[in-house]
Amino acid sequence: MRLDKFIAKSTELSKHDVLHSIHQGEVNVNGVVVTKEAQQVHENNQILLKGVRLQPRPFRYLLMHKPAGTICSNIDEAYPSLFNGLEIEKRSELHIVGRLDADTTGLVLMTDDGRWSFNITRPTNACCKVYRVTLSQALSDERAKEISAQFAQGIQLQGERQLTLPATLQVIAPKDVLLTLTEGKFHQVKRMFAAVGNRVMALHREQIGTVRLDVELGQWRYLTPHEVQSFV
Ligand code: URA
Repeated sequence: MRLDKFIAKSTELSKHDVLHSIHQGEVNVNGVVVTKEAQQVHENNQILLKGVRLQPRPFRYLLMHKPAGTICSNIDEAYPSLFNGLEIEKRSELHIVGRLDADTTGLVLMTDDGRWSFNITRPTNACCKVYRVTLSQALSDERAKEISAQFAQGIQLQGERQLTLPATLQVIAPKDVLLTLTEGKFHQVKRMFAAVGNRVMALHREQIGTVRLDVELGQWRYLTPHEVQSFV
């Protein structure tokens, strides 16, 4: 990682103060003064700030129950940022693993560990995401079977070169279904139901991998070590 990132992660210094310290020659990597903030370092390197060895803070992994009308971005845009509900130090260092639309509710994972989030999002990992979907049109048993078969085979979405990966449909009630995906194309759930002539009225993510949503709307918690490991 970059030297300035490492120092920001290991101390309470602001970005400005980190750069100032580096440019002032206060940082020493493996016995050599380094004044370039972009220098690549490894956590095993001996990195001193004013002679004191820095230890990187451990990565953070958490889940949040996203309310509707918030966006999965670090800054407010057309809707307020989901991060506003996160009372936590250095929250701007966290990123969201698999965004949800502004009107979608449910499980969101956040971390500052880029390698971990890549493990979850890379398609070859086939990490399951379970969505509860409220539809505009009720599904008859026959129609549900047809759509299940289509989703299991993969369907062509507008503007995509490849078929969707096999997905599983489970009917709870005629307008209430669970859809399990192993990928995350833009607006995928809404586009899949649009492709079979239906419409998503409400969308809620219940589960990612083996991690289930178990906190109230707007609340968050740290993942357990077991949950963190389940994605590695
Ligand atoms: N699919 C969608 O269409 N929207 C989401 O927010 C997530 C998956």
